[in-house]
Amino acid sequence: MTDFDYCIIGGGVIGLACAYELSHHGSVLLLEQNNRFGAETSSRNSEVIHAGLYYAPGSLKERLCIEGKQRLYRFCENFDVPHKAIGKLIVAPESGQEQLTQLLRKGRNLRIPLQSLDQQQLQDMEPQVRGYVALYSPTTGIIDSHSYMERLAQQAEQRGALLLKHSRVVSASERDNGWQIEVCSMDGVSSIRCAALVNAAGLQAQKMAHALGIKESRIPKLYLCRGHYFSYQSKNPFRHLIYPLPEKNLAGLGIHATLDLGNQLRFGPDTEYLSDDTPDYRVDPALAPTFARAIQRYFPGLKEQHLQPDYAGIRPKLHTKHETAADFNIQRPDNSAPAVHLFGIESPGLTASLAIGTFVTEMLQK
Ligand SMILES: Cc1cc2nc3c(=O)[nH]c(=O)nc-3n(C[C@H](O)[C@H](O)[C@H](O)COP(=O)(O)OP(=O)(O)OC[C@H]3O[C@@H](n4cnc5c(N)ncnc54)[C@H](O)[C@@H]3O)c2cc1C
Repeated sequence: MTDFDYCIIGGGVIGLACAYELSHHGSVLLLEQNNRFGAETSSRNSEVIHAGLYYAPGSLKERLCIEGKQRLYRFCENFDVPHKAIGKLIVAPESGQEQLTQLLRKGRNLRIPLQSLDQQQLQDMEPQVRGYVALYSPTTGIIDSHSYMERLAQQAEQRGALLLKHSRVVSASERDNGWQIEVCSMDGVSSIRCAALVNAAGLQAQKMAHALGIKESRIPKLYLCRGHYFSYQSKNPFRHLIYPLPEKNLAGLGIHATLDLGNQLRFGPDTEYLSDDTPDYRVDPALAPTFARAIQRYFPGLKEQHLQPDYAGIRPKLHTKHETAADFNIQRPDNSAPAVHLFGIESPGLTASLAIGTFVTEMLQK
């Protein structure tokens, strides 16, 4: 006898998307340790709906981003989530032409709509931006991630899912081919039984996997990589998202200009691997000159004094800064009761969330 068919650990966008998908198939309990959903990485990102251009061919990141993007736009339409396909420009200097051509070729193979722009066309679209060539991606957009998470939660609850805040999973053990979970809440510690588990604990997914007894060799090493944002304290001159060429090892997409739905402009994120494994979200104002130099390469009119430290997010990376980008690591160990663990769900996790929810559901139903 179990209390629930599925128990999800973590109420970020990934846990919520899993709850939404799994609630079609059985009873769902989601446990979130904080006093609101999505308070960690899911509310510390760029809120960009990515087109799926950057990821290793055939990777889960590529596949789930492209599928997730289409589903996310549909979800936003169906459930009134504020969003806008405002389009993005990837801007390159003369020396970046070859890299841009490769991106164009890759995008066309993936059937991602893209348009190549010369200097004049770029100037016409964004008079304040300087570049020798550019790529225009019209299907890239922005989303109000908080409304999105609220709607995921509402929809899951309408199908009977129970989503609890202030509920931290402290341990879990296998029992009768299912799981017994100990949960610490405001009422004390309680015990819950479920048939299958989803470990969507984000930055704590590795720790949770240890607690669940997953084989040490199956748990990928976690590297915390902070990305800082600076807000722009002057009138926004842009109508599109503006990106430089991505970093060579894809640790980040370069310090880009993102707009939110209120037309506020911010710049970021950079990439800083942390030596400590405790998340620290401080934004050091001393980073402003480095930000200004990076931004001035494509926005020469930027004045450093218009940059204001804003917020930071932390990527749960599975590779060091010297290695090429690792893929999402989503696994169902075959030597335990049914469980799926999600490791390294960095960008484009928000875009891919609905596709990840379906992927996890299919893994649990095999
Ligand atoms: C700087 C930055 C920029 C990004 N930009 C974009 C972007 O523009 N577009 C995009 O598609 N993606 C982007 N991403 C990626 C996206 O934000 C993440 O992939 C996504 O938010 C991950 O969600 P999550 O649910 O896995 O993690 P989280 O949001 O961290 O959720 C995990 C949850 O698990 C909970 N938890 C942990 N342990 C326990 C426990 N023991 N018991 C109960 N609850 C627990 C935590 O409290 C947390 O709420 C960005 C990420 C970063 C860091």
